[in-house]
Amino acid sequence: MTSRVCFNPLDCAGSAESVWGTPTSSIDWCERNYAHSTWVAEPWNTASNLAFVVPGLVGMAWSWKLEKRFTAIFLIIVLIGIGSMAFHATLLYAAQLGDELPMIWGALGWTYVVYDDGGRTLALLLIIAACLEAAWHVRARPTTAFQVLFAALAVSVLPRTRRNFRNCTDDVARTLCRRYVACGIVGLVAWLLDNSFCFERVHLHAVWHLFMGANVYYGITFGAYARTQHLGCSPRIEWWAGCLPVVSLENPVNASPKKAS
Ligand SMILES: [Zn+2]
Repeated sequence: MTSRVCFNPLDCAGSAESVWGTPTSSIDWCERNYAHSTWVAEPWNTASNLAFVVPGLVGMAWSWKLEKRFTAIFLIIVLIGIGSMAFHATLLYAAQLGDELPMIWGALGWTYVVYDDGGRTLALLLIIAACLEAAWHVRARPTTAFQVLFAALAVSVLPRTRRNFRNCTDDVARTLCRRYVACGIVGLVAWLLDNSFCFERVHLHAVWHLFMGANVYYGITFGAYARTQHLGCSPRIEWWAGCLPVVSLENPVNASPKKAS
């Protein structure tokens, strides 16, 4: 079998019983496999993906007055959560693809949303990049290279986000941007600690999921606020269930917005 990156020495022998057969994923995280059930390999890592699914569904429901690109991005966030649940529950490589490919699509899509200046060249280049990456991903089973690529895409949007933050005068929206950055940093630290030291009882990979779910939700919501304001609308931040910020508009954004500067 192809070699696997394995973070928990007790799991590396791969002898735990499961209904899914021998794990085929290229990575096996710190959480003990099948310690509680033969159906779910890593229950903490599986359940914590609700941090992507639930806010993603709320974002989709509230984005109908925004440009369709925001609904699409929230949909990809939901797909990431479902794919990641399948991956951590089964440790099968097909399920791992269901997690990692939407992560790359989401990162490329978000790059488009953040940098789009009204032309089609960027969209075409990113679609070609997504197809090439998917072909490489399926063939090569990358681990570190995939992580570096994803991190590079996540960092690539920061300069434009910084500009949007400076141009934004709404205190609540600016707070969302600060939370976006802070949650990303905390999530990254949790991910690095988990992979470096494997504190089995702390479930830091689940913490990574929770903070990254918050990171992408705050980031997209701030991005939607900045974009709709840039298009001449008058967005407001409201709170769904008292905890999730959503961008509210009087009227739907026109389907053909003015060209961004
Ligand atoms: Zn994960």
